[in-house]
Amino acid sequence: MFSPIYCAAGCGRLAITGSKLCAPHSADVKAEEIRICNLIKQETDVRDMNAPYMRFENEDFSGRRFYACNFKNSFFSACDFSNCSMQLTLFNFADFYNCSFKQTNLEFLSFAGARLQQVCFENSDLVNINYGGASIVNCSFNNSGMYNSRFINADMVCVSLVNCDIKRTNFIMSQRKNVSFKTSNTGEAIFEILE
Ligand SMILES: [Zn+2]
Repeated sequence: MFSPIYCAAGCGRLAITGSKLCAPHSADVKAEEIRICNLIKQETDVRDMNAPYMRFENEDFSGRRFYACNFKNSFFSACDFSNCSMQLTLFNFADFYNCSFKQTNLEFLSFAGARLQQVCFENSDLVNINYGGASIVNCSFNNSGMYNSRFINADMVCVSLVNCDIKRTNFIMSQRKNVSFKTSNTGEAIFEILE
């Protein structure tokens, strides 16, 4: 995983990759965000990137391979992650608005406590993904394969999981309003705690 270098200001947060400080303690966080975006765009493989508490708007990150990255508490608006592969990457408590994860290959990701609005995960492979406690509104997972993923305690409103192959995926304690599983294979999905 990413090397844990802590913020030199002593706040206990992790420092941004290539900096001694965390985003909230950076003198020019906008410049840091531009620097991180350029780092992501210039490499196909993005490894051990540490970029929590940052803002990303209208960025094209499509086709990248992310491995062991940390974007906890970051904000993404109109960002394109389509055709990406991602492993061991953390988005806990991050905000996503109008973003695309279309045709992705995702494995061991955490969106715990994240807020996802108008996010598209269509035509993707979602393996070991944690959406625990996330708010998922107006999102689509259509035509995706899900394996061993967890929506435990998630708040799901207007979510489309049409034509999905759902294996060992856990929806217990989730709130679901206007959630469609039409033509999906839900035989192995878990909705209730078995006594
Ligand atoms: Zn700090």
